[in-house]
Amino acid sequence: MSLVIVGSVAFDAIETPFGKTDKIVGGAGTYAGLAASYLFDQVKVIGVVGEDFGANIDIFKSRGIQTEGIEIIPGGKSFFWAGKYHNDMNSRDTLATELNVLGDFDPKIPASYQDCEYLLLGNLTPQIQIDTLNRLDNKPKLVVLDTMNFWMDVALEDLKTVLKRIDVLTINDAEARQLSGEYSLVKAAEVILAMGPKYLIIKKGEHGALLFGEGQIFAAPALPLADVFDPTGAGDAFAGGFIGYLAKIKTINFNNMKNAIIYGSALASFCVEKFGTERLQELHKDEIADRIKQFVHLSQFQLD
Ligand code: AMP
Repeated sequence: MSLVIVGSVAFDAIETPFGKTDKIVGGAGTYAGLAASYLFDQVKVIGVVGEDFGANIDIFKSRGIQTEGIEIIPGGKSFFWAGKYHNDMNSRDTLATELNVLGDFDPKIPASYQDCEYLLLGNLTPQIQIDTLNRLDNKPKLVVLDTMNFWMDVALEDLKTVLKRIDVLTINDAEARQLSGEYSLVKAAEVILAMGPKYLIIKKGEHGALLFGEGQIFAAPALPLADVFDPTGAGDAFAGGFIGYLAKIKTINFNNMKNAIIYGSALASFCVEKFGTERLQELHKDEIADRIKQFVHLSQFQLD
């Protein structure tokens, strides 16, 4: 029984008000895989890199993540993304997107991944997400999908097709408004849940996340942090922590989803503390447990 994550594996160059990096390892699949690996020990990643990725693949291996599904294209160049954050750290400009080998990505599922019960379809073209679902021998127990406004602009019909086949959708508040045509997030959630997903998570960055499903709503805070060095990958770390927790717990219901959101938020809070994937490579389980307690205290109160 495994958790399979499909997502970009990349080189990033990041600039924030606190500093600047040259090419470092990034990619949504990388952030999500690392985050999930702290909660569940059978994490398997599907992606594509160029030969230039080289020994960086050890970042996965050192966390016990299986990489047979990361195709290495001989002579190819890995996906490259460069971004610059504004002073508020909430908005960023994309300075470069070089698709390279990701442009022809055709996800292949190794036989050793066919035991997939938990599937995270990272933010890639909806067609790649559909192809991945089609190539699995069995329907996973839980499918979580992450997407973004770009796919709503250029591939809305494909996106609607894949939404009918998933269990949980994660998007941010602006994307929820765009997809539903509703400004109220409560109304937006109603519209989006009618499109197929059983649960919807609306991410609101430093303001936390909302979970909708089973006729209920849960609001999770984000941990107020004194220093945010680099928000890159926070959404992916959130998704990885979320599905990693559910893979560990094994029972899917609203209450466990609430806990999963807190785990996702905790992993995201670590992710932003250092540049790139650095913090997600060096975490200890007791640090995660302490942070979960902080989340509990943050929003706990007692009525007289
Ligand atoms: P996030 O901060 O959650 O949006 O994720 C950032 C990560 O997404 C970076 O590490 C990038 O390598 C990756 N990324 C950026 N643009 C794309 C894209 N068009 N397709 C796939 N991955 C991307």
